[in-house]
Amino acid sequence: HAKEEGKRTYRFFTLAMARQRLERHRLEQDLRDAIGNGELFLQYQPLIHNGTRRTVGFEALLRWQHPEHGRVTPDRFIPLAEEIGAITEIGAWVIHQACGTAASWPEELSVAVNVSAHQFKDGGIVEAVRDALARTGLRPDRLELEITESVLIDDAQQVVEILHKLRNIGVKIALDDFGTGYSSLSYLRRFAFDKLKIDRSFVSAIKDDPVARGILETIMILGRVLDLCVTAEGVEDDAQLAILSKLNCSQLQGYYFSPPMAETDVGGYLLNEFRRSAVAASADVPRL
Ligand code: C2E
Ligand code: MG
Ligand code: MG
Ligand code: MG
Repeated sequence: HAKEEGKRTYRFFTLAMARQRLERHRLEQDLRDAIGNGELFLQYQPLIHNGTRRTVGFEALLRWQHPEHGRVTPDRFIPLAEEIGAITEIGAWVIHQACGTAASWPEELSVAVNVSAHQFKDGGIVEAVRDALARTGLRPDRLELEITESVLIDDAQQVVEILHKLRNIGVKIALDDFGTGYSSLSYLRRFAFDKLKIDRSFVSAIKDDPVARGILETIMILGRVLDLCVTAEGVEDDAQLAILSKLNCSQLQGYYFSPPMAETDVGGYLLNEFRRSAVAASADVPRL
């Protein structure tokens, strides 16, 4: 009897596994076609300067609107794109798209683009960036590439060379999700990044976890020593904002200020911010 049961369980699992494999296979196929079908698009989330509380740029975040499954999250499809080798093409498309959009914004605003470790492996990232800047006319220092610590682990020498090439083009480099990866302080010394983005998990813990707060304070000091801009991601409420402000965090990002928005909403968002600051400024002027 037990043997029967075992057999049945086994069959059940293989069926489930087969179905899963098929679904995955279909999703891979769909992803390969996603660019051509116009299913990929970018949303933009503002980066706020802590001192002025004004928007200084936007992070581009990739979205996939699947015809049947609806919105597939990047945490799910980016790893898939990496596995099937589609990330190079998708990544180049993202950079080009983001640069083109940013070129239409006021020129003091920058755009941040997430770059996967795989895009570094073949060095194709350098060509993609050059090409996008040339075709869109975006000033290089208005483009910021966000890389994660995983980029730095395997072939450090090659990565450092690519980073230097990108630096020579004039783009900025930010280290994303800082504090969650295989952190080694030596690479901070080895390569001069422009920015550290503190991972959301630290920000969400600062209110009740003294250790998280201590780590955050330490990252701020590190930022000062290395002359880096420090950004906090995932700011959601007043209490977090108050703590980060007091710590002199350079830039802030999170739902508290704005969720990622459609490209077409950026203009209205900026206009709104401009109006608010104009009202605030006129309130400061003493009336005669
Ligand atoms: P990330 O670069 O760390 O981006 C921040 C993520 O946090 C985004 O999730 C954003 O929507 C979300 N977020 C922003 N503010 C808040 C907040 O206040 N609270 C909470 N709970 N979340 C907030 P999203 O858009 O789902 O992206 C997830 C990750 O996917 C990104 O993390 C990035 O690593 C990756 N990704 C997104 N777009 C691209 C891309 O074009 N290329 C590559 N290679 N990776 C991308
Ligand atoms: Mg990012
Ligand atoms: Mg991040
Ligand atoms: Mg993250």
